[in-house]
Amino acid sequence: MEKIIRIADRIKETRNITPNELEELLTTDDEQGIEYLHSLARTTAHEVYGNAVYIRGLIEFTNYCRNDCLYCGIRRSNTNADRYRLSTEQIMECCRSGYELGFRTFVLQGGEDPYFTDERICAVVSGIREKYSDCAITLSIGEKTKESYQKYFDAGANRYLLRHETADDEHYRRLHPREMSLSNRKQCLWNLKEIGYQVGCGFMVGSPYQTVKTLYSDIQFIRELNPHMVGIGPFIPQHDTPFAKMKAGTMEETLRLLSVIRLICPRVLLPSTTALGTIHPQGREKGILSGANVVMPNLSPVSVRKKYELYDNKICTGDEAAECRSCMERRMEEIGCHVVISRGDYAE
Ligand code: SAH
Repeated sequence: MEKIIRIADRIKETRNITPNELEELLTTDDEQGIEYLHSLARTTAHEVYGNAVYIRGLIEFTNYCRNDCLYCGIRRSNTNADRYRLSTEQIMECCRSGYELGFRTFVLQGGEDPYFTDERICAVVSGIREKYSDCAITLSIGEKTKESYQKYFDAGANRYLLRHETADDEHYRRLHPREMSLSNRKQCLWNLKEIGYQVGCGFMVGSPYQTVKTLYSDIQFIRELNPHMVGIGPFIPQHDTPFAKMKAGTMEETLRLLSVIRLICPRVLLPSTTALGTIHPQGREKGILSGANVVMPNLSPVSVRKKYELYDNKICTGDEAAECRSCMERRMEEIGCHVVISRGDYAE
């Protein structure tokens, strides 16, 4: 126990971790030590954000994708995916109902869908910007040129989520088709930052071929980029992908990494993800109790939620889930946290 406590304290103090310490934290069976790690991360989040949990309304507006990432259920080679895209009217309707429910951030996420040209993206963004001037608009639509990112920014987008997926070159190549590269993905993140977006990177926990060494690279890349947001959640196999038979990431490992990231980046906006809620019924609550401070309930029309199937058994896709907001509020109150009506910007 002493050993894990010393490591946790040292991470908080130095805002860094050594490869050996990371290995120790990820492999130990010292439950009390790990409980200390989580409570230290929780306290750190509390020092910056109090017991506030920020909510983001996720709008999954297209599942067409030109990419072929080996882990992802909406990859272009998956001919079993039932493709859809939302109309501008449908997207605006998601925002309208979201606003009424207290959402002040809308996250537009989708595959890299050629139908959504820069012009169309900008039209959607400026439509939302005009109607909801007090809201943050987050885009999560993959790799684009710097010019495109600039156009979306000028149209009114404020934030951009682009998980780097892994900061290890060889690992990156094993998760992606030849035409994709880690260097381009990283360059996109630097470009976004330079333009002035609040930027989020991140990775899947337990993705195939991930090791302590690749995770160490992830953490060092996060330290270097110093992003405003970090999205991590367990890898979950999707039955129509080449990784269908691979093992899923675990909740325990995800929680430990959430805590490590909170201690290294005390002010970071850190979601407790839907994937974490998918592998355990209390996953998202445990994520918050391990230092996360954001949840991203689904605002997509219920009719398309099952189709945005990045991984198997995704939660909140049934009729009963139309109301994610009150469910989340209840869940957070149960663990002593409070969902706030706020843009929830990065605390500078
Ligand atoms: N096209 C956008 C959005 C991708 S979907 C982009 O390129 O950024 C959002 C995230 O879902 C991905 O970055 C990936 O980390 C995660 N994801 C994809 N497949 C997954 C799976 N099988 N299990 C868990 N997470 C997955």
